[in-house]
Amino acid sequence: MKKKRKDKGYTASYDNREGDSRKLIFDLPDNIPIYNIKEGSNSIIILAWEIKSKKNPMVVKGHREIGDWTFEMDVFVHMLSKPSKMDVFCLNRNYGTSESLCDYAKELYDSGKEKEYAFVKAKRRVYYWILDPNDLDKGIKFYSPGSQMYFGKELIEEANECSKGESIIDFSADGDNDIYIVKFRAVKEEIGKSSYLKYKSFRFINIENDEVDNAKDIKKAVEKAMENIVSLDSLLIVKTEDEIKKLIYLEEDNNNDDDNEEKDEKKNKKSKCDEDDDDKEEEKEEKKNKKSKSNDECPHDLVFGKDFEKEKLCNKCDLWEECCDEQAAIKKRNKK
Ligand SMILES: [Zn+2]
Repeated sequence: MKKKRKDKGYTASYDNREGDSRKLIFDLPDNIPIYNIKEGSNSIIILAWEIKSKKNPMVVKGHREIGDWTFEMDVFVHMLSKPSKMDVFCLNRNYGTSESLCDYAKELYDSGKEKEYAFVKAKRRVYYWILDPNDLDKGIKFYSPGSQMYFGKELIEEANECSKGESIIDFSADGDNDIYIVKFRAVKEEIGKSSYLKYKSFRFINIENDEVDNAKDIKKAVEKAMENIVSLDSLLIVKTEDEIKKLIYLEEDNNNDDDNEEKDEKKNKKSKCDEDDDDKEEEKEEKKNKKSKSNDECPHDLVFGKDFEKEKLCNKCDLWEECCDEQAAIKKRNKK
């Protein structure tokens, strides 16, 4: 008789997958399709929209006013893992008010829980309304490429580069201006066992000048989209400090569970089921890979923060994100 195979954690993996089950910081209409990025080349038309909400951090900070136009939502978000599994708009980084999730992240950092800290801390994210030139019939799509640094920053830098000293190319369609297709490549990068997408080679194709086959259809689709577009900031879900506090209890419980698991591991107790074994294997592996050096030292004898991404091995470094943050902090300090 064949031996029963080990549960390889498919169910757990499925339950933990990113995607539709994750609660976003926007109250999106049910029928809005999501643009799914694919590895390799992508084409999108970024749509402009009017700033309408006092909740918009740019308005709160006084950088923009209601009635101004924009092409992106650029905000800090806490991306909570299980059990709450939701994105939470960060009150501290977006508005400058005190907020317990950021305090909690700091506690985790101070107590050396780097893995948990990396999950809980606020991350800068960008979001767009777009049209897919290869799927115009679906109309407006929601696009969440993830990190500001990998998408938003590259996009605006490239648009600036194309301007050749004049004002930045007006690449987001507002119904009155020239329409551009934004082309870019998505490249999978791997750190240890996880992978993420980096975006490169942004190009701006003017549909009038560059002989795009379906230019007429695109124009019609943009016109229609501009009639229906909803300001992304008006869909923002901003939780109150009280609501956020309740979430933290859930997170803390979750992290305490992790602690217990770690203790169990140390005692070499037999686990309840095979699935737990798999989790622990992964944890062990991660610990093995993790260098014992402190958080502000490069494990590869480069200068932490300063030499960020200088060598090929940086891409696979455990402290990649921290090093990146440090580099940003250095730049900020040097500006002052
Ligand atoms: Zn926060």
